[in-house]
Amino acid sequence: MVVKSNILHEANINFSTSKIEFEHVSIDSRSLQNGNTSLFFCLKGQNNDAHIFIESLIEKGVQHFVVEYIPENVKGKAHFCIVENTTAALQNLAKAYKNQFQIETIGITGSNGKTIVKEWLNFLLSPDFSVVRSPKSYNSQVGVPLSVFGINENHTLGIFEAGISLKGEMQHLAEIIQPNIGIFTHLGPAHQEGFTTVEEKIIEKCQLFSKAEVLILEKNDWIEKHLTIPTFTWSFEDNKATVFILSSVKNNLKTTLEIQYKNEVFKISLPFTDAISIENAITCICTLLYLKVSISTISERISKLYNIEIRLQAKTGINNCLLIDDSFSSDYQSLKMALDFLEQQKLHQKKTIILSDIFQSGLNLNELYSNVIKLLQQNNIAQIITIGETIGKYFQDVQNVISFANTQAFLQQFNTDSFKNETILIKGARSFNFDEIVVLLEEKNHETVLEINLDALTLNYNFYKQKLQNTTKIMVMVKAFGYGNGGYEIAKQLEHLKVGYLGVAFADEGIALRKAGITTPIMVLNPEISSYKAMIAYNLEPEMYSVSGLTSFIELAKEKNLNGYPIHLKMDTGMHRLGFEKSEVAALIALLKHNNFVKVTSIFSHLAASDNFDFKAFTLQQIQLFESLVSELSAALNIQPIRHILNTSGIFNFPEYQFEMVRLGIGIYGVGNSEEEQISLENVSVLKSIISQISTVNENESIGYSRKFVVQKQMKIATIPIGYADGIRRAWGNEKGYVMIHNQKATILGNICMDMLMVDVTSIPCEERDEVIIFGENPHVQEIASVCDTIPYEILTSISQRVKRIFYKN
Ligand SMILES: *Cc1c(COP(=O)(O)O)cnc(C)c1O
Repeated sequence: MVVKSNILHEANINFSTSKIEFEHVSIDSRSLQNGNTSLFFCLKGQNNDAHIFIESLIEKGVQHFVVEYIPENVKGKAHFCIVENTTAALQNLAKAYKNQFQIETIGITGSNGKTIVKEWLNFLLSPDFSVVRSPKSYNSQVGVPLSVFGINENHTLGIFEAGISLKGEMQHLAEIIQPNIGIFTHLGPAHQEGFTTVEEKIIEKCQLFSKAEVLILEKNDWIEKHLTIPTFTWSFEDNKATVFILSSVKNNLKTTLEIQYKNEVFKISLPFTDAISIENAITCICTLLYLKVSISTISERISKLYNIEIRLQAKTGINNCLLIDDSFSSDYQSLKMALDFLEQQKLHQKKTIILSDIFQSGLNLNELYSNVIKLLQQNNIAQIITIGETIGKYFQDVQNVISFANTQAFLQQFNTDSFKNETILIKGARSFNFDEIVVLLEEKNHETVLEINLDALTLNYNFYKQKLQNTTKIMVMVKAFGYGNGGYEIAKQLEHLKVGYLGVAFADEGIALRKAGITTPIMVLNPEISSYKAMIAYNLEPEMYSVSGLTSFIELAKEKNLNGYPIHLKMDTGMHRLGFEKSEVAALIALLKHNNFVKVTSIFSHLAASDNFDFKAFTLQQIQLFESLVSELSAALNIQPIRHILNTSGIFNFPEYQFEMVRLGIGIYGVGNSEEEQISLENVSVLKSIISQISTVNENESIGYSRKFVVQKQMKIATIPIGYADGIRRAWGNEKGYVMIHNQKATILGNICMDMLMVDVTSIPCEERDEVIIFGENPHVQEIASVCDTIPYEILTSISQRVKRIFYKN
């Protein structure tokens, strides 16, 4: 893409420098594509403000920023265009950019299926058009503008999705996309919160199509009454629909539809049997019919539809590698996104890419591959493996490249054991079957995984952040492997969110984070004297809770001739775990007065019952004692330490005592300590497994150890490969607990074994290898904890390290 000066001018984005153009529009401060040809928009959300990244972006060579204000520290150091609202400015620029291209444009909205329909239409129409489309699910107020910057002169069809969460948003997206063909996918109850009625939402969404020549949707008289544009409808029931489906027959893994269109009746087979896929495929069939694609071509292409994986996934690989799996697409836009994801995720210095031929860039091959080479160089990719006849030719003269003609050749000839301690991006068009490479490189363990949604983590962080003053620092507790969720991956995300501090329990947890490149200050709650030296070497800040511990640390600091090494004093105000007592304050003052080897960065305490209002008086007494101890210490030592006492439920219940910092734990992982708190949080982790075996058990037979469950009437049971060694408590067995299979409850029968458990699937249609949800939204860890007579903290932190963790963003 190139954004020329006339387009900037049209969008009212003006810089003092005269003629100017940009090759990259960016909102992501972490992207390695940021450089002197970038135009960076400093977006400002409710809780985040990208203006804080300007300084570091200038260091990376970015010279042009669209801002809402110019922060003091960067005045005069770059070119700024000040606007009232940077998101609106980004949208205006996208509108002007899109306006240059008179291409056929399909706009898709609806509550479900937008991304699938978009990806399928791309697949179905790419033999006829040069298609540009939204990458992944880029359909928001920011995602749509970024999507349209992917258009260039050679594209002949754009497919863009639009999703909204609030009233008034669609108008902006409509002006950017300007579709001439509209598609309304399934209109279900998803994402209803911002709207008062379903009708209101439909009308809002239809604004996307106000200038379209046609709208494709399931026949719905109510919607059609409110529309001013022609429609192209489908229906299973109403024979007045443009496309009437006379019958739908399922057989094996296929569904055959009998369709009546104009005066013809014909059959089309889809490689799916579930209702949602059928509905989405019908929407695609209608679009192709509208575009006058012949029925035989439609039939042939539809038979090749496939399940798509939209998310980029980070997976644990062999030899301590990290795999970024993007084995389903290979357009230029999504390559850029995948490289940004790679940069955010990297645990290792070394980055490798396995890349197939790239299709549909809209660029000529010379230009395309020279852009790709440049992009890979910008991103410091150490090793490049190309797979495909075309890409290999263009990479001949590039360093550190190995080329293969096809995937089979790579699998046969390349010694995959040579991959070690590196992050590998696997990115290829579907036809290259890179999923086979992923299978080969993935660390082989069993099928149980804990999936962690890093976007949900961010939303939860923002929820607590908006409860606090802007100036209050947040320490996020990542002890015990991020409450069982993951160590450096979580810490990386938190570092990006610019949290003030990270908190770990032991020095080795902190050391692991430093080794993974985390630079945020880290406080260690339980510093053992034997680890003091290592802590200093890795710049970890100890909690000091006893006179003897503090004395040893000061001795070491003196020996090493340290100056003002940061320490944190823990006061015991009633928890009676660790901490200095009131009676020790005099000794503390004596140790610290005129001592320059260490510096008291913060003083803190911990509440014993912040989650329970029955103990409110006790909590307030703790806080009062804390304040008085801090005052005494501060006055005697002449210091102004950061004060902190609130944990998650403290933030929720006693925000007035936030002082200068709070310590956020369980809440960021999606678990609140009250129902009221819970509804504001997003679920972060889902524990999943699969069905290993299904069997039929007859009357009077029993299931599992000690014959705890005896079958009354013939049953169908499924065995799941997860047990108490993975952290599923035995108290959750014997019909007290359940798992979810295809959204239905399957009760756990008999005792839970070490590595397996058995569930009742008598009335659940399912097959071996189908997915099983152990916990997530439902059942929620809160429910499991209460049945097992414990707390969610224990359930989460008990998930064994042998369970593979997968991190993703939407
Ligand atoms: C674990 C911990 C926290 C966080 O507690 P949550 O209830 O998970 O928010 C805060 N402070 C200290 C000292 C902790 O050990």
